Amino acid sequence: MSENKKEKATKITAVKGMNDILPADAPLWELFENTVHSVLKSYGYQKIVTPIVEDTALFKRAIGAVTDIVEKEMYSFKDAMNDDELTLRPEGTAGVVRAVIEHNLVYDGPRRVWYAGPMFRHERPQRGRYRQFFQVGAEAVGFAGPDIDAELIMLCRRLWDDLGLEGIRLEINSIGDAAERQRHRADLITYFEANAELLDEEAKRRLHANPLRILDTKNPAMQDLVNNAPKLLDYLEGESVVHFEGLKRILDHNNIQYTVNPRLVRGLDYYNRSVFEWVTDKLGSQGTVCAGGRYDPLIESFGGKPTPAVGFAMGIERLVELMKEAGEPNDPSECDVYMVHQGEEARMQAFVLAERIRDAGLDVVLHCAAASGPGSFKSQMKKADGSGAAFAVILGDDEIAKRTAAVKSMRGAEGEQQASVPFDDVVDYLVNQIIGAHEHDHEHVHYHH
Ligand code: ATP
Ligand code: MG
Repeated sequence: MSENKKEKATKITAVKGMNDILPADAPLWELFENTVHSVLKSYGYQKIVTPIVEDTALFKRAIGAVTDIVEKEMYSFKDAMNDDELTLRPEGTAGVVRAVIEHNLVYDGPRRVWYAGPMFRHERPQRGRYRQFFQVGAEAVGFAGPDIDAELIMLCRRLWDDLGLEGIRLEINSIGDAAERQRHRADLITYFEANAELLDEEAKRRLHANPLRILDTKNPAMQDLVNNAPKLLDYLEGESVVHFEGLKRILDHNNIQYTVNPRLVRGLDYYNRSVFEWVTDKLGSQGTVCAGGRYDPLIESFGGKPTPAVGFAMGIERLVELMKEAGEPNDPSECDVYMVHQGEEARMQAFVLAERIRDAGLDVVLHCAAASGPGSFKSQMKKADGSGAAFAVILGDDEIAKRTAAVKSMRGAEGEQQASVPFDDVVDYLVNQIIGAHEHDHEHVHYHH
Protein backbone atom coordinates (compact mmCIF):
# COMPACT_ATOMS: atom_id res chain seq x y z
CA MET A 1 0.00 0.00 0.00
CA SER A 2 2.64 2.52 1.01
CA GLU A 3 4.76 1.55 -1.98
CA ASN A 4 1.80 2.12 -4.22
CA LYS A 5 1.39 5.61 -2.84
CA LYS A 6 5.04 6.41 -3.41
CA GLU A 7 4.82 5.42 -7.05
CA LYS A 8 1.83 7.66 -7.58
CA ALA A 9 3.67 10.64 -6.07
CA THR A 10 6.72 10.41 -8.35
CA LYS A 11 6.03 12.56 -11.35
CA ILE A 12 7.65 11.59 -14.60
CA THR A 13 8.58 14.60 -16.68
CA ALA A 14 10.00 15.08 -20.15
CA VAL A 15 13.73 14.55 -20.64
CA LYS A 16 15.71 17.72 -19.99
CA GLY A 17 16.10 19.79 -23.14
CA MET A 18 13.32 17.90 -24.95
CA ASN A 19 10.10 19.82 -25.45
CA ASP A 20 6.44 19.06 -25.87
CA ILE A 21 4.81 21.06 -28.63
CA LEU A 22 1.42 21.73 -27.11
CA PRO A 23 -1.86 22.24 -28.99
CA ALA A 24 -1.70 25.98 -28.28
CA ASP A 25 1.42 26.23 -30.44
CA ALA A 26 0.37 23.69 -33.03
CA PRO A 27 -1.24 26.22 -35.42
CA LEU A 28 2.07 28.10 -35.71
CA TRP A 29 4.02 24.89 -36.31
CA GLU A 30 1.47 23.83 -38.91
CA LEU A 31 1.63 27.21 -40.60
CA PHE A 32 5.41 26.90 -40.73
CA GLU A 33 5.30 23.32 -42.03
CA ASN A 34 2.67 24.04 -44.67
CA THR A 35 4.51 27.13 -45.86
CA VAL A 36 7.92 25.47 -46.07
CA HIS A 37 6.44 22.42 -47.84
CA SER A 38 4.81 24.55 -50.49
CA VAL A 39 7.94 26.67 -50.99
CA LEU A 40 10.10 23.53 -51.37
CA LYS A 41 7.58 22.10 -53.81
CA SER A 42 7.60 25.30 -55.83
CA TYR A 43 11.34 24.77 -56.44
CA GLY A 44 10.94 21.10 -57.36
CA TYR A 45 12.25 19.52 -54.15
CA GLN A 46 10.93 16.04 -53.31
CA LYS A 47 10.51 14.63 -49.84
CA ILE A 48 12.79 11.95 -48.43
CA VAL A 49 12.35 10.27 -45.06
CA THR A 50 15.28 8.47 -43.45
CA PRO A 51 15.45 6.68 -40.09
CA ILE A 52 16.02 8.60 -36.88
CA VAL A 53 18.58 5.99 -35.79
CA GLU A 54 21.64 5.19 -37.90
CA ASP A 55 24.99 3.46 -37.45
CA THR A 56 27.23 5.60 -35.26
CA ALA A 57 29.98 5.24 -37.87
CA LEU A 58 27.87 7.11 -40.43
CA PHE A 59 27.84 10.31 -38.37
CA LYS A 60 31.47 9.99 -37.33
CA ARG A 61 32.49 9.89 -40.96
CA ALA A 62 30.02 12.38 -42.40
CA ILE A 63 30.34 15.02 -39.71
CA GLY A 64 33.99 14.53 -38.77
CA ALA A 65 35.63 13.39 -35.56
CA VAL A 66 36.83 16.82 -34.42
CA THR A 67 33.49 18.61 -34.22
CA ASP A 68 31.21 19.66 -31.37
CA ILE A 69 28.64 17.15 -32.52
CA VAL A 70 30.83 14.05 -32.64
CA GLU A 71 33.06 15.03 -29.74
CA LYS A 72 30.35 15.63 -27.17
CA GLU A 73 26.81 15.91 -28.47
CA MET A 74 25.78 12.54 -29.87
CA TYR A 75 23.26 10.23 -28.23
CA SER A 76 25.06 6.99 -29.00
CA PHE A 77 24.22 3.61 -27.56
CA LYS A 78 24.71 -0.06 -28.06
CA ASP A 79 21.62 -1.97 -29.15
CA ALA A 80 21.41 -4.50 -26.32
CA MET A 81 19.73 -7.04 -28.64
CA ASN A 82 22.57 -7.36 -31.10
CA ASP A 83 25.41 -5.06 -30.00
CA ASP A 84 24.99 -2.65 -32.94
CA GLU A 85 26.54 0.77 -32.29
CA LEU A 86 23.74 3.23 -32.98
CA THR A 87 23.13 6.97 -32.71
CA LEU A 88 20.05 9.19 -32.65
CA ARG A 89 20.62 11.40 -35.67
CA PRO A 90 22.13 14.78 -34.74
CA GLU A 91 21.51 16.18 -38.24
CA GLY A 92 19.92 15.19 -41.52
CA THR A 93 22.56 15.31 -44.23
CA ALA A 94 24.38 12.10 -43.28
CA GLY A 95 21.26 9.96 -43.53
CA VAL A 96 20.20 11.54 -46.81
CA VAL A 97 23.65 10.98 -48.32
CA ARG A 98 23.61 7.35 -47.16
CA ALA A 99 20.16 6.86 -48.72
CA VAL A 100 21.19 8.55 -51.98
CA ILE A 101 24.12 6.16 -52.33
CA GLU A 102 22.28 3.07 -51.05
CA HIS A 103 19.40 3.54 -53.51
CA ASN A 104 21.46 5.07 -56.30
CA LEU A 105 19.09 8.03 -56.39
CA VAL A 106 21.25 10.04 -58.79
CA TYR A 107 21.64 7.33 -61.45
CA ASP A 108 19.61 9.37 -63.95
CA GLY A 109 20.86 12.79 -63.01
CA PRO A 110 20.84 15.28 -60.18
CA ARG A 111 18.14 15.30 -57.50
CA ARG A 112 16.57 17.86 -55.24
CA VAL A 113 15.30 16.41 -51.97
CA TRP A 114 14.12 17.72 -48.62
CA TYR A 115 13.56 16.24 -45.19
CA ALA A 116 12.13 17.30 -41.85
CA GLY A 117 12.07 15.85 -38.38
CA PRO A 118 13.61 15.68 -34.94
CA MET A 119 17.37 15.83 -34.36
CA PHE A 120 19.18 15.00 -31.11
CA ARG A 121 22.24 16.66 -29.60
CA HIS A 122 23.38 16.50 -26.01
CA GLU A 123 23.93 20.25 -25.59
CA ARG A 124 23.41 22.57 -22.65
CA PRO A 125 19.72 23.49 -22.97
CA GLN A 126 18.98 27.19 -23.29
CA ARG A 127 16.71 29.43 -25.32
CA GLY A 128 16.89 28.24 -28.94
CA ARG A 129 19.14 25.30 -28.09
CA TYR A 130 17.58 21.99 -27.13
CA ARG A 131 18.49 18.33 -26.93
CA GLN A 132 15.67 17.34 -29.22
CA PHE A 133 14.94 19.95 -31.86
CA PHE A 134 13.36 19.97 -35.29
CA GLN A 135 15.01 20.78 -38.56
CA VAL A 136 13.80 21.02 -42.10
CA GLY A 137 16.54 20.75 -44.68
CA ALA A 138 17.13 20.51 -48.40
CA GLU A 139 19.89 18.70 -50.27
CA ALA A 140 20.62 19.22 -53.97
CA VAL A 141 22.68 16.24 -55.06
CA GLY A 142 24.62 16.07 -58.34
CA PHE A 143 24.65 19.79 -59.07
CA ALA A 144 28.07 21.40 -59.48
CA GLY A 145 27.54 25.05 -60.40
CA PRO A 146 26.82 28.08 -58.24
CA ASP A 147 23.31 28.31 -59.70
CA ILE A 148 21.95 25.67 -57.35
CA ASP A 149 23.69 27.33 -54.38
CA ALA A 150 21.90 30.54 -55.31
CA GLU A 151 18.61 28.69 -55.75
CA LEU A 152 18.79 27.24 -52.23
CA ILE A 153 19.48 30.69 -50.83
CA MET A 154 16.62 32.24 -52.80
CA LEU A 155 14.30 29.46 -51.64
CA CYS A 156 15.07 30.49 -48.05
CA ARG A 157 14.37 34.11 -48.79
CA ARG A 158 11.04 33.23 -50.35
CA LEU A 159 10.21 31.29 -47.20
CA TRP A 160 11.01 34.26 -44.93
CA ASP A 161 8.82 36.43 -47.17
CA ASP A 162 5.95 33.96 -47.19
CA LEU A 163 6.15 33.65 -43.40
CA GLY A 164 6.22 37.43 -43.03
CA LEU A 165 9.60 37.32 -41.27
CA GLU A 166 11.78 40.39 -41.49
CA GLY A 167 15.35 41.16 -40.49
CA ILE A 168 16.88 37.77 -41.31
CA ARG A 169 20.19 38.64 -42.93
CA LEU A 170 22.36 36.50 -45.16
CA GLU A 171 26.04 35.84 -44.62
CA ILE A 172 28.05 33.95 -47.20
CA ASN A 173 31.59 32.76 -47.58
CA SER A 174 33.66 30.31 -49.56
CA ILE A 175 35.96 27.83 -47.89
CA GLY A 176 37.60 26.81 -51.16
CA ASP A 177 38.87 23.31 -51.82
CA ALA A 178 41.09 20.93 -49.85
CA ALA A 179 44.39 22.23 -51.29
CA GLU A 180 43.49 25.86 -50.64
CA ARG A 181 42.40 25.04 -47.12
CA GLN A 182 45.66 23.13 -46.57
CA ARG A 183 47.74 26.20 -47.43
CA HIS A 184 45.53 28.43 -45.30
CA ARG A 185 45.63 25.92 -42.46
CA ALA A 186 49.43 25.93 -42.35
CA ASP A 187 49.48 29.73 -42.07
CA LEU A 188 46.65 29.65 -39.56
CA ILE A 189 48.50 27.24 -37.28
CA THR A 190 51.65 29.38 -37.51
CA TYR A 191 49.60 32.46 -36.64
CA PHE A 192 47.86 30.82 -33.68
CA GLU A 193 51.12 29.32 -32.42
CA ALA A 194 52.69 32.78 -32.48
CA ASN A 195 49.76 33.91 -30.28
CA ALA A 196 49.49 30.78 -28.17
CA GLU A 197 49.05 32.72 -24.91
CA LEU A 198 45.70 34.08 -26.25
CA LEU A 199 44.18 30.67 -27.01
CA ASP A 200 41.60 29.12 -24.69
CA GLU A 201 41.65 25.42 -23.80
CA GLU A 202 39.30 24.38 -26.59
CA ALA A 203 41.32 26.31 -29.16
CA LYS A 204 44.56 24.72 -27.97
CA ARG A 205 43.00 21.30 -28.34
CA ARG A 206 41.82 22.14 -31.85
CA LEU A 207 44.98 23.89 -32.98
CA HIS A 208 46.36 20.89 -34.84
CA ALA A 209 43.21 18.82 -35.27
CA ASN A 210 40.83 21.40 -36.72
CA PRO A 211 42.23 24.95 -36.56
CA LEU A 212 39.56 26.29 -38.93
CA ARG A 213 37.00 25.61 -36.23
CA ILE A 214 38.83 28.01 -33.89
CA LEU A 215 37.59 30.82 -36.15
CA ASP A 216 34.09 29.84 -35.08
CA THR A 217 34.78 30.50 -31.40
CA LYS A 218 32.19 32.32 -29.32
CA ASN A 219 34.76 33.27 -26.66
CA PRO A 220 34.71 37.10 -26.47
CA ALA A 221 38.34 37.17 -25.34
CA MET A 222 39.44 35.59 -28.61
CA GLN A 223 37.51 37.80 -31.04
CA ASP A 224 40.43 40.15 -31.86
CA LEU A 225 42.69 37.20 -32.38
CA VAL A 226 40.38 35.46 -34.85
CA ASN A 227 39.46 38.69 -36.60
CA ASN A 228 43.09 39.27 -37.50
CA ALA A 229 43.82 35.68 -38.47
CA PRO A 230 44.73 34.80 -42.08
CA LYS A 231 41.54 34.73 -44.13
CA LEU A 232 40.72 31.60 -46.09
CA LEU A 233 39.08 33.74 -48.78
CA ASP A 234 42.50 35.17 -49.64
CA TYR A 235 43.77 31.66 -50.44
CA LEU A 236 41.14 30.85 -53.05
CA GLU A 237 42.22 30.40 -56.67
CA GLY A 238 40.92 29.33 -60.08
CA GLU A 239 37.68 27.35 -59.97
CA SER A 240 36.93 28.26 -56.36
CA VAL A 241 37.04 31.96 -57.18
CA VAL A 242 34.92 31.44 -60.30
CA HIS A 243 32.32 29.52 -58.28
CA PHE A 244 32.11 32.15 -55.53
CA GLU A 245 31.97 35.03 -58.01
CA GLY A 246 29.26 33.12 -59.89
CA LEU A 247 27.20 32.77 -56.74
CA LYS A 248 27.52 36.44 -55.88
CA ARG A 249 26.61 37.41 -59.44
CA ILE A 250 23.31 35.50 -59.30
CA LEU A 251 22.49 36.86 -55.84
CA ASP A 252 23.24 40.43 -56.98
CA HIS A 253 21.16 40.00 -60.12
CA ASN A 254 18.21 38.84 -58.00
CA ASN A 255 18.57 41.60 -55.46
CA ILE A 256 19.48 39.28 -52.60
CA GLN A 257 21.34 41.28 -49.96
CA TYR A 258 24.26 39.54 -48.27
CA THR A 259 27.49 40.20 -46.47
CA VAL A 260 30.63 38.19 -47.06
CA ASN A 261 31.75 36.92 -43.66
CA PRO A 262 35.28 35.53 -44.01
CA ARG A 263 34.94 33.86 -40.61
CA LEU A 264 31.98 31.78 -41.62
CA VAL A 265 33.27 28.21 -41.78
CA ARG A 266 32.23 24.63 -41.67
CA GLY A 267 35.14 22.95 -39.97
CA LEU A 268 34.65 19.62 -41.69
CA ASP A 269 36.92 17.98 -44.23
CA TYR A 270 34.12 17.19 -46.62
CA TYR A 271 32.71 20.68 -46.87
CA ASN A 272 33.97 23.00 -49.60
CA ARG A 273 33.28 26.21 -51.46
CA SER A 274 29.98 27.95 -50.63
CA VAL A 275 28.82 28.27 -47.04
CA PHE A 276 25.96 30.46 -45.88
CA GLU A 277 23.94 31.32 -42.82
CA TRP A 278 20.73 33.22 -42.25
CA VAL A 279 20.93 35.14 -38.99
CA THR A 280 18.56 37.28 -36.93
CA ASP A 281 19.23 39.61 -33.98
CA LYS A 282 15.81 38.93 -32.51
CA LEU A 283 16.60 35.64 -30.76
CA GLY A 284 19.47 36.56 -28.47
CA SER A 285 22.65 34.59 -28.92
CA GLN A 286 21.08 31.66 -30.81
CA GLY A 287 20.39 33.79 -33.88
CA THR A 288 21.25 31.42 -36.72
CA VAL A 289 18.01 30.11 -38.17
CA CYS A 290 19.48 28.38 -41.21
CA ALA A 291 22.92 27.10 -42.15
CA GLY A 292 24.03 25.61 -45.44
CA GLY A 293 26.91 24.79 -47.66
CA ARG A 294 28.51 22.64 -50.28
CA TYR A 295 29.99 19.21 -49.59
CA ASP A 296 31.27 18.05 -52.98
CA PRO A 297 33.79 15.44 -51.70
CA LEU A 298 31.45 13.72 -49.22
CA ILE A 299 29.62 11.23 -51.43
CA GLU A 300 32.81 9.93 -53.05
CA SER A 301 34.35 9.55 -49.60
CA PHE A 302 31.42 7.27 -48.77
CA GLY A 303 32.21 5.04 -51.73
CA GLY A 304 29.73 6.60 -54.13
CA LYS A 305 30.54 7.98 -57.55
CA PRO A 306 32.03 11.49 -57.32
CA THR A 307 28.88 13.60 -56.90
CA PRO A 308 28.84 17.28 -55.95
CA ALA A 309 26.15 18.36 -53.49
CA VAL A 310 24.91 21.31 -51.50
CA GLY A 311 22.25 21.78 -48.85
CA PHE A 312 20.95 23.65 -45.85
CA ALA A 313 19.21 22.92 -42.57
CA MET A 314 16.99 25.27 -40.61
CA GLY A 315 16.01 25.15 -36.95
CA ILE A 316 12.23 25.10 -36.71
CA GLU A 317 11.98 26.10 -32.99
CA ARG A 318 13.92 29.28 -33.73
CA LEU A 319 11.76 30.11 -36.74
CA VAL A 320 8.52 29.46 -34.88
CA GLU A 321 9.82 31.74 -32.12
CA LEU A 322 10.43 34.42 -34.75
CA MET A 323 6.91 33.93 -36.11
CA LYS A 324 5.60 34.49 -32.59
CA GLU A 325 7.61 37.69 -32.26
CA ALA A 326 6.32 38.85 -35.62
CA GLY A 327 2.80 38.49 -34.21
CA GLU A 328 1.78 35.64 -36.49
CA PRO A 329 -1.76 34.72 -35.37
CA ASN A 330 -1.77 31.49 -33.42
CA ASP A 331 -5.45 30.80 -34.14
CA PRO A 332 -6.60 28.23 -31.62
CA SER A 333 -9.89 27.43 -33.36
CA GLU A 334 -10.59 23.73 -33.40
CA CYS A 335 -13.23 23.53 -36.08
CA ASP A 336 -15.80 25.15 -38.35
CA VAL A 337 -18.78 23.54 -36.68
CA TYR A 338 -19.50 22.40 -33.12
CA MET A 339 -22.37 19.91 -32.72
CA VAL A 340 -24.51 20.38 -29.62
CA HIS A 341 -27.12 17.76 -28.77
CA GLN A 342 -29.41 16.70 -25.96
CA GLY A 343 -31.17 13.36 -25.70
CA GLU A 344 -30.53 9.95 -27.19
CA GLU A 345 -32.22 10.50 -30.55
CA ALA A 346 -30.51 13.85 -30.98
CA ARG A 347 -27.16 12.23 -30.24
CA MET A 348 -27.68 9.58 -32.91
CA GLN A 349 -28.79 12.20 -35.44
CA ALA A 350 -25.78 14.38 -34.53
CA PHE A 351 -23.41 11.61 -35.59
CA VAL A 352 -25.12 11.32 -38.98
CA LEU A 353 -25.14 15.06 -39.62
CA ALA A 354 -21.53 15.47 -38.46
CA GLU A 355 -20.34 12.85 -40.95
CA ARG A 356 -22.27 14.54 -43.76
CA ILE A 357 -20.81 17.94 -42.92
CA ARG A 358 -17.31 16.44 -42.86
CA ASP A 359 -17.99 14.87 -46.27
CA ALA A 360 -18.40 18.42 -47.54
CA GLY A 361 -14.91 19.30 -46.31
CA LEU A 362 -15.74 21.13 -43.10
CA ASP A 363 -14.13 20.43 -39.73
CA VAL A 364 -16.65 19.30 -37.12
CA VAL A 365 -16.29 18.71 -33.40
CA LEU A 366 -19.10 16.55 -32.08
CA HIS A 367 -19.78 17.10 -28.40
CA CYS A 368 -18.91 13.92 -26.49
CA ALA A 369 -19.62 13.04 -22.90
CA ALA A 370 -16.97 13.86 -20.29
CA ALA A 371 -16.43 12.05 -16.99
CA SER A 372 -19.11 14.29 -15.51
CA GLY A 373 -21.64 13.27 -18.18
CA PRO A 374 -22.84 14.76 -21.46
CA GLY A 375 -23.45 18.23 -19.98
CA SER A 376 -26.39 20.62 -20.20
CA PHE A 377 -27.26 22.64 -23.31
CA LYS A 378 -25.73 25.62 -21.60
CA SER A 379 -22.42 23.95 -20.86
CA GLN A 380 -22.28 22.50 -24.37
CA MET A 381 -22.86 25.96 -25.85
CA LYS A 382 -19.97 27.23 -23.75
CA LYS A 383 -17.78 24.55 -25.28
CA ALA A 384 -18.99 25.54 -28.73
CA ASP A 385 -18.03 29.13 -27.97
CA GLY A 386 -14.59 28.16 -26.72
CA SER A 387 -13.93 25.96 -29.73
CA GLY A 388 -13.71 28.96 -32.04
CA ALA A 389 -16.26 27.32 -34.37
CA ALA A 390 -18.03 29.57 -36.83
CA PHE A 391 -21.30 27.68 -36.27
CA ALA A 392 -22.99 25.60 -33.64
CA VAL A 393 -25.41 22.99 -34.95
CA ILE A 394 -27.92 22.28 -32.19
CA LEU A 395 -30.17 19.24 -31.87
CA GLY A 396 -32.75 18.70 -29.13
CA ASP A 397 -36.19 17.10 -28.80
CA ASP A 398 -37.89 19.95 -30.72
CA GLU A 399 -35.42 19.68 -33.59
CA ILE A 400 -35.80 15.92 -33.77
CA ALA A 401 -39.59 16.30 -33.88
CA LYS A 402 -39.40 18.85 -36.73
CA ARG A 403 -36.44 17.13 -38.48
CA THR A 404 -34.56 20.42 -38.48
CA ALA A 405 -31.37 21.61 -36.83
CA ALA A 406 -30.86 24.96 -35.14
CA VAL A 407 -27.80 26.48 -36.80
CA LYS A 408 -26.32 29.32 -34.81
CA SER A 409 -23.61 31.56 -36.22
CA MET A 410 -21.04 32.18 -33.52
CA ARG A 411 -18.82 34.87 -34.95
CA GLY A 412 -20.64 36.45 -37.86
CA ALA A 413 -20.22 40.16 -38.58
CA GLU A 414 -23.88 40.76 -37.62
CA GLY A 415 -23.54 39.08 -34.24
CA GLU A 416 -25.10 35.79 -33.32
CA GLN A 417 -27.89 34.60 -35.57
CA GLN A 418 -29.89 31.43 -35.50
CA ALA A 419 -31.75 29.64 -38.28
CA SER A 420 -33.90 26.55 -38.33
CA VAL A 421 -32.64 24.34 -41.17
CA PRO A 422 -34.10 21.00 -42.36
CA PHE A 423 -31.67 18.10 -41.85
CA ASP A 424 -31.23 17.60 -45.58
CA ASP A 425 -30.28 21.25 -46.10
CA VAL A 426 -27.82 21.63 -43.24
CA VAL A 427 -24.73 20.86 -45.32
CA ASP A 428 -25.62 23.28 -48.14
CA TYR A 429 -26.59 25.93 -45.63
CA LEU A 430 -23.27 25.72 -43.78
CA VAL A 431 -21.16 25.57 -46.91
CA ASN A 432 -22.89 28.64 -48.36
CA GLN A 433 -22.64 30.57 -45.12
CA ILE A 434 -18.99 29.76 -44.65
CA ILE A 435 -17.98 30.48 -48.23
CA GLY A 436 -20.03 33.68 -48.05
CA ALA A 437 -18.29 34.79 -44.86
CA HIS A 438 -14.95 33.97 -46.43
CA GLU A 439 -15.66 36.08 -49.51
CA HIS A 440 -17.01 39.01 -47.57
CA ASP A 441 -14.56 39.58 -44.79
CA HIS A 442 -11.77 37.05 -45.38
CA GLU A 443 -12.36 35.80 -41.91
CA HIS A 444 -10.30 32.74 -41.18
CA VAL A 445 -12.24 29.56 -41.76
CA HIS A 446 -11.09 25.99 -41.99
CA TYR A 447 -12.99 25.39 -45.17
CA HIS A 448 -10.61 24.27 -47.86
CA HIS A 449 -11.05 22.67 -51.24
P1 ATP B 1 25.81 26.27 -33.40
O1 ATP B 1 27.14 26.77 -33.83
O2 ATP B 1 24.85 27.36 -32.96
O3 ATP B 1 25.87 25.15 -32.43
P2 ATP B 1 25.48 24.37 -35.51
O4 ATP B 1 26.59 24.63 -36.46
O5 ATP B 1 25.64 23.28 -34.52
O6 ATP B 1 25.10 25.72 -34.74
P3 ATP B 1 23.87 23.29 -37.60
O7 ATP B 1 24.36 21.92 -37.32
O8 ATP B 1 24.38 24.00 -38.80
O9 ATP B 1 24.10 24.20 -36.32
O10 ATP B 1 22.27 23.24 -37.61
C1 ATP B 1 21.47 24.05 -38.49
C2 ATP B 1 20.45 24.83 -37.71
O11 ATP B 1 19.73 23.98 -36.82
C3 ATP B 1 21.03 25.89 -36.80
O12 ATP B 1 21.30 27.05 -37.51
C4 ATP B 1 19.90 26.09 -35.81
O13 ATP B 1 18.89 26.92 -36.37
C5 ATP B 1 19.38 24.70 -35.64
N1 ATP B 1 19.95 24.04 -34.46
C6 ATP B 1 21.17 23.47 -34.34
N2 ATP B 1 21.35 22.96 -33.10
C7 ATP B 1 20.19 23.23 -32.42
C8 ATP B 1 19.73 22.94 -31.10
N3 ATP B 1 20.47 22.26 -30.23
N4 ATP B 1 18.50 23.35 -30.73
C9 ATP B 1 17.71 24.03 -31.60
N5 ATP B 1 18.08 24.32 -32.87
C10 ATP B 1 19.31 23.92 -33.28
MG1 MG C 1 26.06 23.14 -32.47
